[in-house]
Amino acid sequence: MPDNILIPYGRQSIDASDIEAVVNVLRSEWLTQGPAIERFEQEVARYCGAAHAIAVSNGTAALHLACLALKVGPGDLVWTTPNTFVASANCALYCGASVDFVDIDPRTFNMSPELLAAKLEEADKQGRLPKVVVPVDFGGQPCELKQIALLAKRYGFRVLEDASHAIGGEYCGAKVGSNAYADITVFSFHPVKIITTGEGGMALTNDPDLARRLRLLRTHGITRDPGVMSKASEGGWYYEQLELGFNYRMTDIQAALGASQLQKVDQFIARRRQLAHQYDLALRELPLHPAEQLEGCCSAYHLYVIRLDQERASRSRRDVFSGLRQEGIGVNVHYMPVHTQPFYRRLGFKPEDFPNALHYYEGAISLPLYYGLTDEQQQYIIEKLKEKLSA
Ligand SMILES: *Cc1c(COP(=O)(O)O)cnc(C)c1O
Repeated sequence: MPDNILIPYGRQSIDASDIEAVVNVLRSEWLTQGPAIERFEQEVARYCGAAHAIAVSNGTAALHLACLALKVGPGDLVWTTPNTFVASANCALYCGASVDFVDIDPRTFNMSPELLAAKLEEADKQGRLPKVVVPVDFGGQPCELKQIALLAKRYGFRVLEDASHAIGGEYCGAKVGSNAYADITVFSFHPVKIITTGEGGMALTNDPDLARRLRLLRTHGITRDPGVMSKASEGGWYYEQLELGFNYRMTDIQAALGASQLQKVDQFIARRRQLAHQYDLALRELPLHPAEQLEGCCSAYHLYVIRLDQERASRSRRDVFSGLRQEGIGVNVHYMPVHTQPFYRRLGFKPEDFPNALHYYEGAISLPLYYGLTDEQQQYIIEKLKEKLSA
């Protein structure tokens, strides 16, 4: 980022109680694998209404472990949306599987359940059905998971919800992460997300077998549970590696920060919603389309994206974007469609394969949105945006 950025698109909010929580861990016996992890896991599980929560080193690690827990491997297919961070697709490739995409709904910028249904029908005929589908709650708005879950039942795939943007969001009366319509839900606690642990992530599930696999794979595939060992313990030192896992543990320092942040999640989201509502009202008359919010969905508002209406706007996205950056406003773009990245082009994808995501991308700008953004700063952003659009 250039150093003239005064207002970033997103940032963390850390207060004295967060700092105290971290310092307390530093003064304690345990920096990792101590009591703060379990406490953070239990509190997130309770908040979301999920049976199990497994804390890991970052959201990408949570996606990777989730794919492994769902037994994704070579020869399998995983489908996600092109309008996401690359990690939602990369996680399948880590497991040796292949990736494909389902185009977005131009209203919500989320995976379209209609296009998913059509693609499944075609894939069924060709015997190329996906093992796992990874819908992403883009910007914090939950996907249309009821429809996706019905399709999962019909075609026999599992649902891995990438809710990196959406902790605290609600869908049909239940918290994101409750897994009412998903097998595993994943959060990221990167500093731009809703709550942070510095780096961190979590996988939530209601299935005890999936939870056990997630825990095992988080720590090298090693167990000290005599109930699952191949033979009797040889002594107090004894453990067994049952599978090829990873070191994807979170530290207690991070978990303590997370638990402290979680206490403020509703407060964070209330402010984000208020700011989003103020953007909605102020930008109503402009040639822009914010994400349409669907009935039954309560967004956590990780992002506030405006899609420039290319036909009505007199200025290009590039001009508006760089004009705002010059005013010290740290606008960003979420996302360059994953399938257009050079790495994915080499796998054979062409930009026009997913035209909705491409068209969306060409007009997308993320405006600053975070808990600490003041009304005055927001007024400044709105003013400058109007100016750049009419210039
Ligand atoms: C942030 C993010 C991730 C990855 O999370 P990390 O914690 O940065 O690894 C995955 N998916 C989406 C949609 C994200 O926004």
